[in-house]
Amino acid sequence: MQPTIFFLSRCFSPIYNHRSDEYGGLAINRARILVEILKVIRKQMPELHISIKINFHDYMAGGVTPQDAQIACKALVEHGIDYIEISANGTSQTGINPMQNEAYFLDFALELKKAVNIPVILVGGHPSMENMTAILNKTPVEYFSLSRPLIREPDLPKRWQAGDLRPSTCISCNNCYGAPGKRCAYER
Ligand code: SF4
Repeated sequence: MQPTIFFLSRCFSPIYNHRSDEYGGLAINRARILVEILKVIRKQMPELHISIKINFHDYMAGGVTPQDAQIACKALVEHGIDYIEISANGTSQTGINPMQNEAYFLDFALELKKAVNIPVILVGGHPSMENMTAILNKTPVEYFSLSRPLIREPDLPKRWQAGDLRPSTCISCNNCYGAPGKRCAYER
């Protein structure tokens, strides 16, 4: 049998989770499996750093909402999650331009930071060091997660560290998703 992809995301989404018991219905119920997994891991390995990447939106009618995600995140924080990374269903947005429309999940992160006192990791649309630096300096967001810019240029942090602060040359086209090995579809 093939494993269900994004199984836990589907448990949390009312689009996929139609249970009528304590694991379905309200957001706190749909988050129950996440909390229970966290509790078991925490009990077995009290010192382990545990983080979660969680959808703040399904972008589909009847799906996960930011309010649902806030409820889940608060429950996870109560039970000792260390970090939370913001994400959303099916979203690697295209057409990202440096200093124009970067960090497309920033609003979700800012709302979450008002509700929890643990670090929040912001993924999604970070081609430029300049914009991440501005977010670091002006908001409570402490951490960033990069994907496509690192697929395009695995040595990007090294380049930035060496002082070459030009934005990533990733054009956020998403063609790497269909490329063998999820590599960038274009020559460097
Ligand atoms: S194919 Fe290359 S340029 Fe396009 S999103 Fe992927 S890494 Fe970026």
